[in-house]
Amino acid sequence: MADYPGYDTFCRYCGKPIIFIRTVNGKLMPCDATPVKYWLSGDKNGVMVYQRNGTYARALLDGHPSACSGSGYRPHWVSCTERDKDRRPKERKPSPAVLQIREQIAKERAARAAREARAAEKREAEDKLREAEERQYRLF
Ligand SMILES: [Zn+2]
Repeated sequence: MADYPGYDTFCRYCGKPIIFIRTVNGKLMPCDATPVKYWLSGDKNGVMVYQRNGTYARALLDGHPSACSGSGYRPHWVSCTERDKDRRPKERKPSPAVLQIREQIAKERAARAAREARAAEKREAEDKLREAEERQYRLF
């Protein structure tokens, strides 16, 4: 990894070299090991760029070459291509209450289907009976 002198470790998600910068707030921020040039934006626009000493600034990553403010490090989560995939929420196990409700719905559906089947059978039987009666009437 000659291209990334001083990297600390590799991202466990995507395998890219990263460095840890302790921010002025005391938190460890994983950053891309490759520094980027930045241009101080002078307002609230721009992205966070960190320095090794933990200070950071909002800056633009593009500008006139002669006005470049310096180089710094970007948080790795911005460029990590694998982390989000890993963090995708997994299918959660339904709670017992949800299972109970689903069971209840299934039972009600089955009961309704059975009722409808019985009703259909009954209608069919009545139709047959009516037909038979009509045939008998015709005989007399
Ligand atoms: Zn990564």
